[in-house]
Amino acid sequence: MANAFQEGLRQLDKTCEIIQREKKITIKTEEIEILKKPKRVVEASFPVTMDNGKLKIFTGYRVQYNDVRGPFKGGIRFHPKVDLDEVKALAFWMTIKCAVVNIPYGGGKGGITVDTKKLSQREIERLTRAYVRVMANIIGPDRDIPAPDVYTNSQVMAWFMDEYSQIKGVNTPAVVTGKPIEIGGSQGRDTATAQGGFYVFDNLRKKLRIKKNQIEIAIQGFGNAGLNFAKIAADHDFKIIAISDSQGGIYNKKGIDIKKAIKYKKENGQLRGFKLAEEISNEELLELPVNVLVPAALENVITEKNVKNIKAKIIVELANGPTSIKAGEELFEKGVYVIPDVLANAGGVVVSYFEWVQNIRHFYWDAKKVQNNLSYIMNKSFKEVWETSQKYKTNMRTGAYITAIERLINAVRIRGRA
Ligand code: NAD
Repeated sequence: MANAFQEGLRQLDKTCEIIQREKKITIKTEEIEILKKPKRVVEASFPVTMDNGKLKIFTGYRVQYNDVRGPFKGGIRFHPKVDLDEVKALAFWMTIKCAVVNIPYGGGKGGITVDTKKLSQREIERLTRAYVRVMANIIGPDRDIPAPDVYTNSQVMAWFMDEYSQIKGVNTPAVVTGKPIEIGGSQGRDTATAQGGFYVFDNLRKKLRIKKNQIEIAIQGFGNAGLNFAKIAADHDFKIIAISDSQGGIYNKKGIDIKKAIKYKKENGQLRGFKLAEEISNEELLELPVNVLVPAALENVITEKNVKNIKAKIIVELANGPTSIKAGEELFEKGVYVIPDVLANAGGVVVSYFEWVQNIRHFYWDAKKVQNNLSYIMNKSFKEVWETSQKYKTNMRTGAYITAIERLINAVRIRGRA
């Protein structure tokens, strides 16, 4: 993800300019500088015993970006393209995201450069445990709380929590979120990102007075975020006409039967070959004549190269960083509403926060309580971002950044660090 971090910083500068101009206040250079640099960056190499008995050296990262509003918080990604620039960008976005939805966390992110498709489950377990051993002294329930991200799941979080608890000699479920329910996970965490995205999408749809039966949705990515969004939207009678995974996409103008597609993906490991739809590429999916597009896979898929061909009226960024800043500006000019990642996919970190609170208190909530609290935070955050973007005649991304950066700068001032 070339220069993603630089893009994040450009958005930060642009937002600070707007705040200063519109609110007629001065933000000191030092206050902005604090938000421009990660507080701590850890790069570690560690050996893992492979199933054939040989040692292989892997590289992992943890970027602890900012903790001015609370402990660092952010997922762990296992992907061949993970590098420091990507992890820094993701950690910066987590800082913004936690401030947008106003939960008491800073931002962080971690990752290992690895293709998990080439590893066995035992190898992934040993890899996870090795990562925890090198990071154990910098993470913890009051310091830095990781969570799942691309190609890490609740099982990986279970190994993570177990290894950390063994190192510290005390059961510590609050060190990670996104755990299985049996060992301290929260109800609703597995579907939280998609559920939160669905709440903000439906808020926007109602604001724009678009009827449910006029909506056609295309979703790129069919993992935790994309699959669950498809399921929730289908359960609410929305028509989904295209979905995809890393192997390619499928399309049916009349609507895809999502339950059957999920079953097919489970049995075959991919969507390609699903009989009740035609095959399309991931690139074609983005350019379909739909009114709602949900990028839910990786970064930088909507750029200067294809933005002219995007036909959607609403883009729900379930993935982190799917739209480049330039492409985002062009979409705004065209009248496209982009619900930015820092709001659209914040449901995951909100329910992670609920999980952490439950772990610390040793008192667990039922699914209804989780849903009620999630919808309260997402609806309130949507309203704040929407109103800010309307007030400053800007797009929702800048609206979200203004909301977040004001909170961050206030926290910096009150703590007296600048
Ligand atoms: P996941 O590993 O569960 O699923 C990723 C999906 O993307 C898979 O279906 C995979 O096949 C697909 N994919 C991979 N490469 C692709 C490509 N080149 N083209 C099209 N599809 C491709 O991951 P996830 O948790 O669903 O995360 C997806 C995105 O959502 C990421 O950007 C992640 O940072 C973001 N996100 C996830 C959460 C969460 O709670 N899971 C929270 C916030 C943000």
